[in-house]
Amino acid sequence: MQKIAAPRGTADIYPPESERWQALEVCVRAIARRYGYGEIRTPTFEATELFVRGVGETTDIVSKEMYDFVDKGGRNLTLRPEWTAPVVRALLEHNLLAAGPQRLYYVGSIYRYERPQAGRYRQSHQFGVECFGFAGPEADAEVIALANDVMRENGVPVKLALNSIGDELCRPRYRRVLYEYFAPHRDFLSAVSRERLERNPLRILDSKEPQDRALIDAAPTMLEVLCEPCAAHFAAVRGLLEGSGIEFVVDPGVVRGLDYYTRTVFEFVSAELGAQATVCGGGRYDGLVGSLGGPPTPGIGFALGLERFLMLLAKRGDDQSDVPVGIAVIALGEEARWRTVPLIATLRRKSGATPILADYGEAKIAVHFRRAERANARAAVIVGDDELARGEVVVRDLAARAQWTLPQDPSADVTAQAVLAWYAALPSAPPAAA
Ligand code: ATP
Ligand code: MG
Repeated sequence: MQKIAAPRGTADIYPPESERWQALEVCVRAIARRYGYGEIRTPTFEATELFVRGVGETTDIVSKEMYDFVDKGGRNLTLRPEWTAPVVRALLEHNLLAAGPQRLYYVGSIYRYERPQAGRYRQSHQFGVECFGFAGPEADAEVIALANDVMRENGVPVKLALNSIGDELCRPRYRRVLYEYFAPHRDFLSAVSRERLERNPLRILDSKEPQDRALIDAAPTMLEVLCEPCAAHFAAVRGLLEGSGIEFVVDPGVVRGLDYYTRTVFEFVSAELGAQATVCGGGRYDGLVGSLGGPPTPGIGFALGLERFLMLLAKRGDDQSDVPVGIAVIALGEEARWRTVPLIATLRRKSGATPILADYGEAKIAVHFRRAERANARAAVIVGDDELARGEVVVRDLAARAQWTLPQDPSADVTAQAVLAWYAALPSAPPAAA
């Protein structure tokens, strides 16, 4: 029979890869918590209208990337393509803003109908934060510092690119300036950019088409057109980042693909990711809460792509998830297998973070060792008929290929203690196998 494959653009995550995911999730949660952010979880699907209004019709996400469907009750729904609009929806639904400023983070999947390639999937995952209720530059600096900590604590080399795209006062002015600049060169633009020229010329700056590059590079920048309050805000953000020792470059090319951004926008970019260079993007969105029916509330946040971040971690190459850890319990023969079950149970209750692996199969000892090594165990406990008769267990250092005997106490508790004490005394960096 033909096998069924996972849908295009999705991936299964399994050991040892899932350990890298878990470690990263633990890390980002700890950093968010340290900054006073609490976790929010929202549904995987939402009313399509939320994204049309919240993200904007001229964006790539809404115009072509949404996984939308009609459910059996005739409702128009969309698999979450980004988290900010759902977070704002939840905030308003539960009136959380009544309690004052809110700091929230999320870790979870997004869905976009894109052409799958390295670093671009149809189901991917993001960590992100949203900070609501502070209009001043301190919040911009806080959110950027948080993202910067994630980069620094994982030792990934990235560049922080910063820009301001103004507000509802100066941005329309900039749109006109851009339109007037690009319109005479219309025929030299890519088809996508020609269309963006009419709908939203700002989005041309976001073009990934090589043929648009030269025109974009010579285009007037938003920074030349910023109104005075936007210019002052941007100067203050830069000053705060400098004061915190966070390195950045001002890059007028950073415009971000979502309509709701105002003022500060930023990206963490890596030279090691090829075409999908942006690992984290964010910005201020002072108009979003209002446009989704809430009270005017400033906000700022970012989203970091976990797949791309893990690609950077893999390139760094000091992965810990292959280091052997844990104890494989090997019973030889039916009697021993039966009698070893209480020892395994006790070990698992007492072992703390150390995995206890049980092999219930019937095999030669060499086969058991091989399976234990493949399971990445650091050590083994061996119980056979002879050991049972003598009241012993054998403990083996799988890396050093050396073994010892320990007394087997009638109490599984005592034996387990002895095994764990022996394990704890093993050198943590295993010696190279002979
Ligand atoms: P890109 O320019 O790469 O399309 P974007 O501007 O659409 O990115 P955002 O919506 O800002 O991206 O999402 C923030 C981050 O989420 C990105 O920088 C990236 O790391 C990740 N991301 C977005 N879309 C995908 C995807 N389809 N597959 C994998 N990661 C993604
Ligand atoms: Mg995109």
